[in-house]
Amino acid sequence: MDYVIEPPPQAFVAVAGETAVFPVRRIWCVGRNYADHAREMGADPTREPPFFFAKPADAVTAGGLLPFPSQTADLHHEIELVVAIGRAGRDIPVERALDHVYGYAVGLDMTRRDIQAEAKKLSRPWELAKGFDQSCPISAIVQAARIGHPDKGRIEVAVNGKVQQSGDLSQMIWSVPEAIAYLSRYVALAPGDLLMTGTPAGVSSVKPGDTLQGSCEGIGEIVVSYED
Ligand code: MN
Repeated sequence: MDYVIEPPPQAFVAVAGETAVFPVRRIWCVGRNYADHAREMGADPTREPPFFFAKPADAVTAGGLLPFPSQTADLHHEIELVVAIGRAGRDIPVERALDHVYGYAVGLDMTRRDIQAEAKKLSRPWELAKGFDQSCPISAIVQAARIGHPDKGRIEVAVNGKVQQSGDLSQMIWSVPEAIAYLSRYVALAPGDLLMTGTPAGVSSVKPGDTLQGSCEGIGEIVVSYED
């Protein structure tokens, strides 16, 4: 294939214990998937059908020192379990959903909360609140073949050493298999897709110079420092 311009570099996430990396196709995100976070966002945490939004593949970053995002005075962290899809499927039954998982990582769904709040108010889309450059720091993926499929475990993030969000994977409103099954009714999932599974309560505002240290028990750690 000849391209009229240089094709963009393939976005990727590291894989623990491997030199080869996981190529990222799309990043799907579940909204309000922990009841206590739904409440803090002013929403009703009853078990409504899950809803999804997306970030572009090249929003992924391995973290480290990052420029502070532009056009926000209220940048929020959302620590989330990330599911890496390794097998294609559509209309996937819940009881087969985990067969499509390659592995798991821990990531941050960084959010320009001020832009999101305005978009909600005006019934506008969320992309500039959620899908900006480097809005998706993700740890190395650990293979499900090595750790299985965690459905419980502490997930938390500290800002400058102080724990801000702390929850447990077991608190998800929609489980990982349920979210995969539901999403696959709307889009054909394919290897390279990532699914961010929502965040527990405690989201807070981050400033230039802050350091975020996120972790998920048995999966890994992601560290981001914003330039001052
Ligand atoms: Mn989120």
